[in-house]
Amino acid sequence: MQIINSPAEMQAISRAWARGKSIGFVPTMGFLHEGHLSLVRESKHNCDITVVSIFVNPSQFGANEDLVSYPRDMKRDLELLEGCKADYVFCPEASDMYPKPYHSWVNVDGLSEVLCGASRPGHFRGVATVVLKLVNLVKPDYMYMGEKDFQQVAVLNTMLKELNVLTRIASCPIVREPDGLAMSSRNTYLTGEARQQALCLSKAIFNAKLMYKEGCRNVNSIITECQSIISSHGGETDYIKIVNPNTLLEELIPKDDSRIILAVKIGKTRLIDNASITPDTL
Ligand code: AMP
Repeated sequence: MQIINSPAEMQAISRAWARGKSIGFVPTMGFLHEGHLSLVRESKHNCDITVVSIFVNPSQFGANEDLVSYPRDMKRDLELLEGCKADYVFCPEASDMYPKPYHSWVNVDGLSEVLCGASRPGHFRGVATVVLKLVNLVKPDYMYMGEKDFQQVAVLNTMLKELNVLTRIASCPIVREPDGLAMSSRNTYLTGEARQQALCLSKAIFNAKLMYKEGCRNVNSIITECQSIISSHGGETDYIKIVNPNTLLEELIPKDDSRIILAVKIGKTRLIDNASITPDTL
C-alpha cells in the first residue's frame, strides 16, 4: 500500500496507470468504520487498482460546525486500509488542496439546496468542489460511495454527468450496527444515553416502512409517526421527508421507489439516515 500526500504526485501516478486497468476510488474523511471498508472491499472486488482518500475537507463544514473536533486517527485508518489491501491512500493537506488565494468552486443548483443543503448552506458546494478536484487527481473509472449520504450521491451524479466527467458512481448499501444505527464517524460523539437516543432515526425509518407495507399511502401520517418516535427519544428533528430518489422532491403519494430521508440532532450531534420506503430493503 502506497501513501501519497502531494496532489501533484497523486496526479503523476494516476497518469502513469496503464490504459485498460480499471481504477476504483473511495473518497473518505477518515476515522474509518465498516461502512467505509465495505466500499473499499467493493472496489477491490471490481477494479484493478483501488485508491482511498482521507481528507477532512474544510470547505464542506459551516462556520459553526465540527471541523476542528471531527474525529481523526490516521494510524488506525492506515492499518485498516492495509488490512483491506487498498493499493493507494491519498491524504493531502488542506493547504495543498486549497492554496491561497483560492477561487474555483462547483455549484450544483437545485439538488444542493434541499434537505441537508437547506440546513447546511454551502455544504454541497464544498463537497462537489473537493470531489471534482479528487477525481481530477485520481482519474477513477468508478467512485464507490455510500447510500448513507443519499443526497450527496444525487448531487455528485448530476455534477459528473453535466460536467462531462466519465467517472461513474457505484452507490453501496448502508452498513448498520446490529441495533440498526447507521455507522458514521460522528457516532463517536454519542456517549452514554445519546447512543440509545440515536436509535430513533432507524426506528422511525423501520416504522415508516412498516406503515407503507401495511398499506398506508398518506405522507403526513407516516411523517407524524416518525416525528413522535424521534421526540419520544429526545431527538430534535431537522427534517423528515419522503422524496423521489432522483429529483429529491417531496412525494405527494409514496411509491415503491420513494426514499424516506431524515436528519436529527441528538444533543449537538447531527445524524442522517435514509432508506427505500419499500419494506423488503433496508
Ligand atoms: P465520510 O468519511 O463520512 O465522508 O464517508 C465517506 C464515504 O463512506 C461516503 O461515500 C459515505 O456515504 C460512505 N459511508 C459512510 N457511512 C457509511 C455507512 N454506514 N454505510 C455505507 N457507506 C457509508
